[in-house]
Amino acid sequence: LIVTPPSFTPLLDPRDVPGARTFAFRGNEILIREPDLALPDEAILRALDVDPAALLPVGIYEGAYCRTAWLPKDAPAPDGYTYKGLRSLFGRMDEATLAVAGRAFQIADWARSHRYCGACGLETSRAAGERAMKCAACGHVAYPRISPAMMVLVKRGPALLLARNVAAPPGRFSALAGFIEPGESVEDAIHREVHEEVGVTVGDLRYFASQSWPFPGSLMLAFTAEYAGGDIVCEAAEIAEARWFGPGDPLPELSPRQSISRALIDANLPKQGTA
Ligand SMILES: [Zn+2]
Repeated sequence: LIVTPPSFTPLLDPRDVPGARTFAFRGNEILIREPDLALPDEAILRALDVDPAALLPVGIYEGAYCRTAWLPKDAPAPDGYTYKGLRSLFGRMDEATLAVAGRAFQIADWARSHRYCGACGLETSRAAGERAMKCAACGHVAYPRISPAMMVLVKRGPALLLARNVAAPPGRFSALAGFIEPGESVEDAIHREVHEEVGVTVGDLRYFASQSWPFPGSLMLAFTAEYAGGDIVCEAAEIAEARWFGPGDPLPELSPRQSISRALIDANLPKQGTA
């Protein structure tokens, strides 16, 4: 699971200290050096014309001030550097740094998309003392948007219900998941999504864990549930295939180890070597 380490401290106010670590994003890709995955230094930021005032505070990690910036769509890659999607760094970059990068990305992407007021269209400015963009003209305040989503692993005895989403890589199965609608509790969303996506009903919801998933600003809340009734009927627009995997069934391809989907499934697999 990718979670920011307890030693990370979030920060709202910028610090002017040497040795800052800068997570710079062009679209949803991070600027890093190949092959050592180093972050850009001051000289690189200057070469890219990054306004020091536009650097946004993220936090302190391993004693270093971490900050973030978004770069224009046409920003070039300086010599030796490249732009990479965070997901492509799973398994290459250490997970704690990836988690901080995920935070940085959500902050940079929010700042990029809230330069103008969503209510009146005039320019916004950063509010002091909180992570917010404020419109001086109409008073509108915009905070980073986090979209809660639920994930649920449905169990029937030792068997697990796994589904292949139409948008997933071919052959990859996962627990069911979906965004929470306005007005719903997480539990409401679980009952609704499970029934919509695979036609069954569930009970005995149990919280498992949560994970920030910055693609873009999701917070995934993972549960298990017990099968209560119904036959599997897949919602064609969403689910290509769904079935029960019992003990002894070969497991399909699963999500990467860093995802909460994988952690949820791994924690509920029947113990190997027991009858
Ligand atoms: Zn406004």
